[in-house]
Amino acid sequence: MAEDCLFLTSKKGNIDIRRMTNGIPQVSFVIPVYNEESNLPTLVERLIKIMDQSPISLEAVLIDDGSRDNSRAMLKQLALVDPRFHVVLLSRNHGHQLALTAGLSVARGTEGVFVLDGDLQDPPELLEEFYAKHLEGYEVVYAIREKRKEPWYKRMAYFIFYRILKKIANVDIPLDSGDFSFIGRKVVNILNQMPEESRFIRGMRTWIGFKQIGISYNRQERAFGDSKYTFSKLVQLALNGIFNFSEFPIKFVSSAGFLAIASSLLYFFYVVIKKLFIGQVIEGFTSLLFVIILFGGIQLLAIGILGEYILRIFFQSKNRPNYIIDQEICEGKLLK
Ligand code: UDP
Ligand code: MG
Repeated sequence: MAEDCLFLTSKKGNIDIRRMTNGIPQVSFVIPVYNEESNLPTLVERLIKIMDQSPISLEAVLIDDGSRDNSRAMLKQLALVDPRFHVVLLSRNHGHQLALTAGLSVARGTEGVFVLDGDLQDPPELLEEFYAKHLEGYEVVYAIREKRKEPWYKRMAYFIFYRILKKIANVDIPLDSGDFSFIGRKVVNILNQMPEESRFIRGMRTWIGFKQIGISYNRQERAFGDSKYTFSKLVQLALNGIFNFSEFPIKFVSSAGFLAIASSLLYFFYVVIKKLFIGQVIEGFTSLLFVIILFGGIQLLAIGILGEYILRIFFQSKNRPNYIIDQEICEGKLLK
């Protein structure tokens, strides 16, 4: 394993980083990691550089979300050697939003946290700019993706999703902003008290309120490896955004139901009048079949939409913890 952690020793030369603790950190980086062994060396190198030079005391909370590559072992060793790295190992892959939730709950930053991805798409160096805005009085400083260096179909899906969400959500979730943000301690504490199971953190963050502001940045390309968000995980995140923050789908179903009833009544009267006064029976097996299939489909869709809400009640009512921590290493010590 030693060779996997070369980046720990080579960067600091002969300085014993074991002694370089900053005391209680003012700000915590919070970074979920899932199979990012190829990105970790650069990420860690850049974090160390920032922590070395920062006038405020920092810790880096890295959450391993059940990685199956070397990330887990690398992080564990890193945290045992450099006390500024606070590492949490989850019991299995719980998904990005829950890994982030775990990170937010263990982060000690007294002023707040800086949330970013582990694949270097969100530059950690932006902390200075974001923190400066926080000092101006903004509780949340979120990043707005000006340009995305991602495949066109992904950019288009994100573009459409955020615009639909903006139209139908109960809260004014900013366009093109993800989880990359500085979140002040007050808001972190509130997030930590929100027990919801299907989490859409960028929405919850907006829902909390206080003064919030966006800063534009160019989202970088993923440094190494492929996206760890599978298609189904992305769809789930999008559904959580929509169903947790909007009544639109269920209201849409009722409206569609009303519309169907109204149009079928109209059609009924039309048929009766035609039969009684003109003496003509309307034929048309095909159109009948079409209507049956159409309304069968609409009913299934309606049940599905209802199901999305009920599923959320179902999972929430189980009251299970949102994630399970296997091990936590804080200030170079294994906590559990
Ligand atoms: N991630 C995670 N658990 C998962 C999927 C992703 O912790 O189940 C982490 C991943 O390692 C990365 C961040 O969440 O640090 C964002 O994931 P990714 O870059 O794959 O998403 P994308 O940028 O493609 O939306
Ligand atoms: Mg990414």
